[in-house]
Amino acid sequence: GLDITWAVDWVRRSAETVAEHRTRLIALDREIGDGDHGENLDRGFQAVLPKLDDLAAGSTPGDVLKLVATTLISTVGGAAGPLYGTAYLKGAMAAGSATSLDGPAIAAVLTAARDGIVARGKAESGDKTMVDAWTPAVEAADAEAASGADARTVLEAAASAAEAGAEATEPLVARKGRASYLGERSAGHRDPGAESSALLLRAAADAAV
Ligand code: ADP
Ligand code: MG
Ligand code: MG
Repeated sequence: GLDITWAVDWVRRSAETVAEHRTRLIALDREIGDGDHGENLDRGFQAVLPKLDDLAAGSTPGDVLKLVATTLISTVGGAAGPLYGTAYLKGAMAAGSATSLDGPAIAAVLTAARDGIVARGKAESGDKTMVDAWTPAVEAADAEAASGADARTVLEAAASAAEAGAEATEPLVARKGRASYLGERSAGHRDPGAESSALLLRAAADAAV
């Protein structure tokens, strides 16, 4: 299973990939939003990094997810801050106090995170939001976990499905969030939140090797 070392490495890799793709996320959000998505998320994950050093001995993956949640809620702002904050908070609750997460436990964490985003933002599949990355990721994770796959394989499947889901937002017309103000003109652009979600899930899989 995946333990505290994985969780901390996931956060470090998340900060790294968000910083690396900051400009591209800003460009995507400039096309159908207000251009701040990359900056907001980069600020949030950079704020988490120093706090990792303060984690008490014996901390669990759930403790790390909770730390990410509270930090993102207080630093990211916009639509994505509360949505990601809720995702990590619900993920932390699903992880509970377990010291190690196996395939089904990882699938449960991802499911809880996605459900949190949906409960908070009320977006449905096809509305051109981050849900369009998360829902295929959860479905792929559940299918792998049900067939007995280990945690790393579950995350690989989730990351690949999220990447395909993010790409599939391109032709969609936005029905939620700032991009929905553009109506039909939102078609032909990838949703920035779906793209950042795919980056974060890829970071989770990369941390698991
Ligand atoms: P803002 O639009 O406030 O500037 P961000 O740019 O940080 O916020 O985040 C925009 C992203 O948030 C969108 O690309 C989309 O993926 C996501 N989003 C916006 N509204 C919703 C919603 N109701 N449900 C799910 N995701 C949403
Ligand atoms: Mg924005
Ligand atoms: Mg904004």
